[in-house]
Amino acid sequence: MKIGRVWLVGAGPGNPGLLTLRGKEVLDDADCVVFDRLVGDGVLSYIPPSAEMIDVGKEGGNHPVPQSEIENIIVREALLGKKVVRLKGGDPFVFGRGGEEIEALIANNIPYEVVPGITSAIAAPSSAGIPVTHRGLAASLHIITAHTKSGGIAETDYEALAKLGGTLLFLMGASSVREICRALMANGMSPDTPAAAVENGTTASQRRITAPLSEFEKKCEEEKLHSPAIIMVGECAALGEKFDFKKYLPLSGYKIVVTRPRSRAGRLSKMLRAEGAEVVEIPCISTSLIDQELPNLDGYGWIGFTSAAGVESFFELLAKNKRDVRTIGNAKIAAIGSVTAEALRSRGLTADFVPDIYDGENMAVGLAQLAGREKILMLRAEDGSPELTEQLKSRGCDFTEISLYRTEYEKPRFVPKDINCIVFTSASTVRGFVGAFDGFKTAKVCCIGRQTAKAAREAGFKNIKTAEKAELEYLIKSVEED
Ligand code: SAH
Repeated sequence: MKIGRVWLVGAGPGNPGLLTLRGKEVLDDADCVVFDRLVGDGVLSYIPPSAEMIDVGKEGGNHPVPQSEIENIIVREALLGKKVVRLKGGDPFVFGRGGEEIEALIANNIPYEVVPGITSAIAAPSSAGIPVTHRGLAASLHIITAHTKSGGIAETDYEALAKLGGTLLFLMGASSVREICRALMANGMSPDTPAAAVENGTTASQRRITAPLSEFEKKCEEEKLHSPAIIMVGECAALGEKFDFKKYLPLSGYKIVVTRPRSRAGRLSKMLRAEGAEVVEIPCISTSLIDQELPNLDGYGWIGFTSAAGVESFFELLAKNKRDVRTIGNAKIAAIGSVTAEALRSRGLTADFVPDIYDGENMAVGLAQLAGREKILMLRAEDGSPELTEQLKSRGCDFTEISLYRTEYEKPRFVPKDINCIVFTSASTVRGFVGAFDGFKTAKVCCIGRQTAKAAREAGFKNIKTAEKAELEYLIKSVEED
């Protein structure tokens, strides 16, 4: 049997934007992904649905998967002929035990590739506005493990470190702050030397703690510093306040779940990231076309679309029926909102009517007025809101409805951590989310319209914001609201 291959991929420091392009490329092709605890949720969300996920993370309390077992797993999967991605936090070779895994691959004649990652040693301080070198302040940087208890390496030589004069970066040091500070000062380092800790660097829960060496231990205790954190000692550590850039990013403290289908999440996610949010795409619904013979569409005065998915499904179905857009003849077109109108425009159609308020009720009221006695055809989802059709009915409109697609709930494959905001763009995404996850009920929930907000209320969410208008720009504004 053909043997597979292993890619040792650095997942970067947590934020999905800091995975490399090459890393994303090999992840897209993976059959099996073996991942650690420090790999960010956003990076996990990039794992293709077809790939198997094996969690070898070491969560406090649970027994970690021993290193030898991890090596057995990647060897076993590769020997089955799979493309195996071994995803590791930061860079695979910076205190990542990447070398040991490669030795196991060599012993089994398994081909491999290393995809470097952005190490947290540099990225966590950077992301907190702390440069690891600065002209005139530091001429070198040193990456040190604070965890020498196991692994058979010599105790840290603090005497040597205290003399270096460069930037000292300690990994795995959140619980060794006391030892680090005392040992450096005991070996002659000035108590005034700036020190900083960056916890959860590059993510929404990033924190920076800064103090001179003599006060640093107390400050970290007061602020309850916890792992993962980079402990930095050296003159550059004082620059964080001055070079802080999070102040320009109003959503920098937000870790936001975007629940819409992956194919449609892009623009929303990008807009949230532009404001500094950490975005995790967890699609809670997907749509599938209802394959059918389309009737003769002649004779309709108006054709109405209520979603971008409806527009796409319509064109897909036309092609399947070996027909094209000429089928709709001279019918006028109504779109429920700007996103639907945009989907039509990208197909060369301009909507003749878009209501001022983007919802079913306003669509029906406007359409009823414009259409008068003309025949209306609504092209929409199988389980579309009854609001629209009831309104058309009550106004005596002559309308027909065709269900073009159905919504299916997706089963997410991991539970995201530390979420403080969820964005819903339809009632079905709310239902998909609560079907998949327990909890998260106190997170801020931002909804695009009244129907969506109603579904969120019914689902038990407490802190609900509704966008002033059903447009992405207003949805983003609602995230910023207190
Ligand atoms: N290979 C990784 C390091 C693994 S050792 C890398 O290159 O980044 C694990 C240590 O990395 C943690 O104890 C912590 O010191 C550091 N670390 C990892 N992610 C971090 C983050 N987002 N913020 C701060 N420190 C982090």
